[in-house]
Amino acid sequence: MAKVAMCAGHGGSGSTPGKRSPAGEYEWNFNDAVVRAAIAKLKANGVEVLRTDDASGKTDIGLTARTNKANAWGADVYVSCHHNALGTSWLNYEIGIETFTQNGSHPQAEILARCIHPKYVKAMGLKDRGMKKSNLAITRQTKMPAVLTEGGFMDSRIDIKSMRDNAKLKAQGEAIADGIMEFLNVKNTNSAPKVSKPSSGKTGSKQITKPKSILSVDGKWGNSTTQALQEALNTPVDGVISKQPKNAVTQALYSTTVQFGNGSSNVIVALQKKVGVKADGKLGPATIKALQKYLGTPQDGVLSRPSMVVEEMQRRLNAGTF
Ligand SMILES: [Zn+2]
Repeated sequence: MAKVAMCAGHGGSGSTPGKRSPAGEYEWNFNDAVVRAAIAKLKANGVEVLRTDDASGKTDIGLTARTNKANAWGADVYVSCHHNALGTSWLNYEIGIETFTQNGSHPQAEILARCIHPKYVKAMGLKDRGMKKSNLAITRQTKMPAVLTEGGFMDSRIDIKSMRDNAKLKAQGEAIADGIMEFLNVKNTNSAPKVSKPSSGKTGSKQITKPKSILSVDGKWGNSTTQALQEALNTPVDGVISKQPKNAVTQALYSTTVQFGNGSSNVIVALQKKVGVKADGKLGPATIKALQKYLGTPQDGVLSRPSMVVEEMQRRLNAGTF
């Protein structure tokens, strides 16, 4: 079972200086609402959750105590939820949302951030300030992929409106839970319900539902990824991108320097329609770029091996959210 450790940043009213809105609202209370909503959704989907701050709001648990608990418990991921402030007086402009991972290269944490960030930006309806790096105790001391969310600035007159809206805080928490489940390949039963495919039409034959095999998320676009993609896009499931000429096209999957073959492919046509690019059935840089845009990975039009965009595609194929 997937194990998620979470905390609301700081402690409850009065137990910590923390940050406040110019009206005196404590950050922890906003953070707490988000964490509660996230935990409810995670639990509803069978995820085990450890909350490392004091949910009663009476005490402020130190950061090292929080990360020690999560490490000892063996959490798969850690998410710490915060809201920010630049100062102590009202600012009349929108500031927005940012997500932090630890300084340096932490590919798993960065993927986790990419799963979470766009979803809760959308849920709050605030400006996207992007994914950033910092040196923070929570992300530094945890042994598992960890991110810290900052769901808006409490001293912005615009941002605070979303924070004072309980429905938005709940949506923020649920969006964070959705991102975590996407990262962990946990089947998310509360969103994107699967529409069953029409039966093959054979009368009298029992419909056999083949359990969906889980792709390994390795960033390598091989036959099984192609098959899962074909299944998701309702094209013939043969694990082959194009038959003509196979080698050149296969090579093209991993490099943009080779010449693409003349053969077009059903599954690439379907993919191109999905990501909104000219549907010529050829997997070239424009299609890769559109796929990167669709999945929110860096848009360089290049597939490496292993590749960030393929990893993200595999994750979404597994989650049924591609
Ligand atoms: Zn904070």
